[in-house]
Amino acid sequence: MPPIETVSGPVDDADLGLVLAHEHLSTTSEAVRAQWPHLYDEAREYDLAVEQVRAAMDRGVKTIVDPSCMDLNRNVGLAQRVVQETGIQLVMATGIYGAKYTFLPPYFENREPSAMVDAFVHDIEEGIQGSGVKAAFLKCAVDEPGITEHVERILRAIAQASLRTGRPIMAHSHPATRRGLEIMDVFDDEGVDPRRVQIAHTGDTDDLDYIEELLGRGCWIGMDRYGLDIILPTDRRNATVIELCRRGYADRMMLSQDACATIDWFPEDLVKQMAPNWHFTFLWEGVLPALSEGGVTDEQIDTMMRDNPRGWLTA
Ligand SMILES: [Zn+2]
Repeated sequence: MPPIETVSGPVDDADLGLVLAHEHLSTTSEAVRAQWPHLYDEAREYDLAVEQVRAAMDRGVKTIVDPSCMDLNRNVGLAQRVVQETGIQLVMATGIYGAKYTFLPPYFENREPSAMVDAFVHDIEEGIQGSGVKAAFLKCAVDEPGITEHVERILRAIAQASLRTGRPIMAHSHPATRRGLEIMDVFDDEGVDPRRVQIAHTGDTDDLDYIEELLGRGCWIGMDRYGLDIILPTDRRNATVIELCRRGYADRMMLSQDACATIDWFPEDLVKQMAPNWHFTFLWEGVLPALSEGGVTDEQIDTMMRDNPRGWLTA
């Protein structure tokens, strides 16, 4: 098994330990930040990231997967400082989120598709943003607007970079519009092994028919937005995971929170008010005890939080 690239270098997959499969050190509006840096407090951002990572490590977490990429202000410098301070194994990505889930910058729009593929492969083989830190996986996003022309170009470039490098893919999805199935159509068409694909945010729905249809496509699914009760309350997320475990799918799900130690998409007070449970350790407070009570075994929790992230990253 090839080692897994982290910010602190390659790690043997057996050493990943307990994994949070989807959290963000920081999510900020890239273009705003580049133009008006005075709106941002880097020192505070760093402190908040260290605080969240340390809280997760206190719960036994050894590895955090951070799927930040273009449009989410992926920042390898911040990642390196946080890793140095905390000792966390941090796994980074390459890819394009697509602002508002539709936008491809003119740079890529007006060049051959291979330009995007080459950029992704560069991050995987050479390193991110001039550092030696290599991306371990590819990230893309399809939300309510669907697979528009630009989004399709991103998905196909992500698929081709995965085929060239053997690296897995995480795709943000919008389950209310059953986007996971359309994403899999594109990846199947490109010849990507579905075991290399994780459809993130599948836990935003409790539509078991949709989820089982998606699982039938052979991908992994992220039950990864615990704490975002405004999209689906925790008790309904838990009931879905409990039922899927009962139906034998524990070996296909990953548990996480998609929390951001910093996010500038809304005023800070509003985020706290809208999603008070949205942080790196809500799983241990509001989720794992309820899953256990619902009949999910410790072994199944280990499968979801250790074996599955490892299986996806090494597929
Ligand atoms: Zn995310």
